[in-house]
Amino acid sequence: MSIAITTNNIDNDRIRWPDKKRFAFTIFDDTDGANLKDNQLVYDYLNELNFKTTKSVWIKNGNHKEKKYPGITCEDKAYLNWLLELKNKGFEIGYHNTTYRSSYREQTKLGLEKFKELFSQLPIVMANHDSNKENIYWGSYRLSEFRRTIYNTLTFFKKNQYYEGHQEKSPYFWGDLCKQYITYVRNFVFSDINTLKYCPYMPYHDPAKPFVNYWFASSDGNNVKKFNKCISDKNQDRLEEEGGACIMYTHFSDRFCDNGKLSEQFKVQMERLSKKDGWFVPVSTLLEFLKKKNKTHIINDEQKKALEWKWLLNKIISGIQ
Ligand SMILES: [Zn+2]
Repeated sequence: MSIAITTNNIDNDRIRWPDKKRFAFTIFDDTDGANLKDNQLVYDYLNELNFKTTKSVWIKNGNHKEKKYPGITCEDKAYLNWLLELKNKGFEIGYHNTTYRSSYREQTKLGLEKFKELFSQLPIVMANHDSNKENIYWGSYRLSEFRRTIYNTLTFFKKNQYYEGHQEKSPYFWGDLCKQYITYVRNFVFSDINTLKYCPYMPYHDPAKPFVNYWFASSDGNNVKKFNKCISDKNQDRLEEEGGACIMYTHFSDRFCDNGKLSEQFKVQMERLSKKDGWFVPVSTLLEFLKKKNKTHIINDEQKKALEWKWLLNKIISGIQ
């Protein structure tokens, strides 16, 4: 039986953020293409402005033959030490699958255990890495019913039904481990800065996807251009006025740094945002707060339908992930 959620209805019932903050803002940084030097530039700046956000990692190197650099992993000692320092400063380390290549169940399990050993905690928050076969409820599995058919039709050339992390008979299956190790998994992304306005139910459990404890949504800041656009002056002011919450999804390796210099526009806009009275905590801290605030956490069919349509339309219009 589905239980109706008491939503954070921001129109009628403004959220009272901790310490009387007026809104919440955080970032989930997808580790694709990352290198230590540029990461340091970005995170030193975030730390200086007192933003404590979430940086995802890969535990191990994977096999790769392509010329394109996949990104640094925890096998690099200097990077690992820097990540541990970052964690000590109050940033959160998230999981982005075990590596940038598909992993069988055993490799995923080793990766999760290694994460626990390296960071002395479970990986609380994660996002699927787009091309990995062990991704959980990914591709068209993100949607249900007719919406899945539409998605499959619109993106027929992509590997929509290729993902097997939730399929018990697959060698890529790790659904039970996901439930055991991970609390929050990212699903839908919207172009609006106020993630919570688009997904007031988060974090929510979907009984049709039993291996994920809770899902969360995010806002589209995929690369420096989209990120800067999403935190434009006008949008920041609106996020504050609406008393909302933004979980920005980005790749900090995607043109935020150019020849050892951080994007000026990014610096200016983040500085402006930092001067507002916002709650700037890591993704899981924000989600824990919302979880306590919501009375129940199971999304019902109507809510899910509305959420899926919103995302599908947003995707068709703006091509977001
Ligand atoms: Zn990725």
